[in-house]
Amino acid sequence: MKTKNQCRILLFLIPLFMLQACGQSVNNKNITQNPLNMENSINKAGNPYYSNTDTSKLNVTDAEWKKVLTPDLYAVSRNADTERAFTGKLWDSDAKGTYYCAACGNKLFKSDQKFSSSCGWPSFFEQENKNSVVYKEDNSYGMKRIEALCGRCDGHLGHLFDDGPKPTGKRYCMNSIALDFVPDSVISANKSKSNLETITLGGGCYWCVEAVYENLKGVQSVVSGFAGGKNANPTYKEVCNGNTGHAEVVQITFDNTITNLDEIFKVFFTVHDPTTLNRQGGDVGTQYRSVIFYANEEQKKEGQSIIEKLNSEKVYSNPIVTTLESLTQFYKAEDNHQNYYENNKSQPYCEMVIQPKIEKFEKIFKDRLKK
Ligand SMILES: [Zn+2]
Repeated sequence: MKTKNQCRILLFLIPLFMLQACGQSVNNKNITQNPLNMENSINKAGNPYYSNTDTSKLNVTDAEWKKVLTPDLYAVSRNADTERAFTGKLWDSDAKGTYYCAACGNKLFKSDQKFSSSCGWPSFFEQENKNSVVYKEDNSYGMKRIEALCGRCDGHLGHLFDDGPKPTGKRYCMNSIALDFVPDSVISANKSKSNLETITLGGGCYWCVEAVYENLKGVQSVVSGFAGGKNANPTYKEVCNGNTGHAEVVQITFDNTITNLDEIFKVFFTVHDPTTLNRQGGDVGTQYRSVIFYANEEQKKEGQSIIEKLNSEKVYSNPIVTTLESLTQFYKAEDNHQNYYENNKSQPYCEMVIQPKIEKFEKIFKDRLKK
């Protein structure tokens, strides 16, 4: 598929304007964002103070915070550092869901309290409840500002300004890194008693992976798209140039009374080569990385376990390089990329690359094919 001449490199213009910035102590380096957590009850290994349900006030020493937070989060949350504008994952996200304090798990905002701001930081006009956010006068850098702190852990979140939209006129200018986001879809999926489960996998060109899973018993839908990158709503061309950080993925929804995660993973490790870093055959780049985007701890554990098993049984001659990444957001690819193989069977790429993978899959999983 994507030869270089098909993939035009896009140049992005960085907006040269800014609203009043949250802070002036801007780090020179990009502050990296932790993987966002997907469950309503997030379990942060190594941070015993983190809870999405416990609202009791925390009193934790600075030394202890230093131990349990990542250095980037510690810099913002405990030292009131400010991430560079436009570098966080959430500033332009309009996904529906809930925002929590990344340091302690306290519920801070709902997505319908967020508004589109061009300042480069996630902005809200209202807090989730009266205990979500507390304030302190901040006279640093010769300015008189209101610092916004987490109501549970007193961690620095950002600043509060009076230039927000109606009805409050407030603008909570927040650091992305100080926030965890949990999409509504994940919360409702977790609550649902449905037999349906969804997993997102990257195994190189999504046309190939999609075509295979479409034919597996118990699979209800397969959607081609992108995950794991920086920008919202990426296009195929943007992902193709390899700079967005997104991987080509398929989002598979399956009935776990007919198939299960184990079988989904077995198919995954059969139809792509999990030992070649950022590469599947002639498709090269991080967008073709082998990756499991887990939606919950169970998927993560099961993914880890099958990788360990395949490695220890030396199923491949080289070690598996498949990464396990927390799913932050899945973006559906353009319509002409859905069911690509089915609609383009006579194309050389389909005949040469996809068809052999399908044949291999059909041979190994012959009893598990849709009739
Ligand atoms: Zn907090």
